[in-house]
Amino acid sequence: MPQFYILSAMSQAKAYAAMSPTTPLQPWTFNRREPGDRDVRIEIAFCGICHSDLHTVRDEWGPAAYPIVPGHEIAGRVTAVGKKVRKVKVGDPAGVGCMVNSCRKCANCRAGLEQHCSGGLSFTYNSVDKDGTPTQGGYSSHIVVDESFVLKLAKHQPLERVAPLLCAGITTWSPLKRFGAKKGTRVGILGLGGLGHMGVKLAAAMGAEVVVLSGSAAKKADAKRLGAHDFVLTSDAAAMAKNAGRLDLIVDTVSGTHDVGAALGLLKTAGTLALVGASPKPLELPAFPLIIGRRTVAGSLIGGVAETQEMLDFCAKKKVYADVEVIAPREINTAYERLARGDVRYRFSIDLSRL
Ligand code: NAP
Ligand code: ZN
Ligand code: ZN
Repeated sequence: MPQFYILSAMSQAKAYAAMSPTTPLQPWTFNRREPGDRDVRIEIAFCGICHSDLHTVRDEWGPAAYPIVPGHEIAGRVTAVGKKVRKVKVGDPAGVGCMVNSCRKCANCRAGLEQHCSGGLSFTYNSVDKDGTPTQGGYSSHIVVDESFVLKLAKHQPLERVAPLLCAGITTWSPLKRFGAKKGTRVGILGLGGLGHMGVKLAAAMGAEVVVLSGSAAKKADAKRLGAHDFVLTSDAAAMAKNAGRLDLIVDTVSGTHDVGAALGLLKTAGTLALVGASPKPLELPAFPLIIGRRTVAGSLIGGVAETQEMLDFCAKKKVYADVEVIAPREINTAYERLARGDVRYRFSIDLSRL
């Protein structure tokens, strides 16, 4: 296999794309650049379906620029590298998450917080790369990414289960680390979906006592199986009252509007609710549970590149992987319907070899 390509031609990628907010995703082909000196080309094996993909293609967050090839939980193998690439070589497993470029010069980039780049961040899709071309994501045959935004994966890992770590993993890892989840702390995970189930696994692997806070009674057995120590049904007022003041930290992964005030009541004095769920509609924030309990509501967006690598290395060592349902690309639209109604245990992972 050649180590790098010298032609600056384009290569055609096969993909599934959204052409509008209201039509099903459909097969589509488009051009990717050939790898430049610092680029890595990855043949995509699996890509997770994140609820953010659904929010974006349905234009719930706006503005979305169609066609959109969604997908930012990408795991595959390197098939070509530019001549200055040092991070990976042909044949290595590699991943790509939610970002493919940033300015690298601003204070946030220099601090390893590329996700907060003030000089122009390029998201993996529905965004613009540094060469001015629209970015297109991982529901595709291959991707070409600057090596700085390529993540190294350990060999002999189940790539279908590793892919979701690239977004669901890092998005829950980052607030867990930032707000001190470890042995002796009590962590609540609000919403047991793709992010939530990774939050449970990661917090448990960090040694924390984990409580799942869910609106779905049917997920109780799963919560325990995933590593949670306890389960609280958020619609059960008596259970919520019994658990008042119990938790140091809540990671709120809920994708829609919900009662944040009720969750705040579960925190200890000065506890933190870290919001990662990105409800398209505003959330109500009642003053009293916040001020009486001296509590904090914080936001968190994915994680930086180095932090993502740290999470991947931790997961490889501890064998922490997502629970996935592998689907063929033609099943994407059915998967979206199921995701929208909360029917997923706990991440869809698209097998791109079946494109
Ligand atoms: P998901 O798999 O659909 O899980 C969301 C879970 O939230 C559901 O399983 C359900 O859990 C609960 N839920 C959904 N709608 C609800 C509602 N209206 N009221 C109460 N509970 C509800 O989604 P995901 O992929 O984990 O993503 C979750 C959210 O995080 C999305 O908004 C996504 O865009 C966002 N996100 C943010 C970042 C970031 O960097 N901040 C990164 C990735 C994703 P129960 O059945 O247990 O109640
Ligand atoms: Zn995501
Ligand atoms: Zn920057």
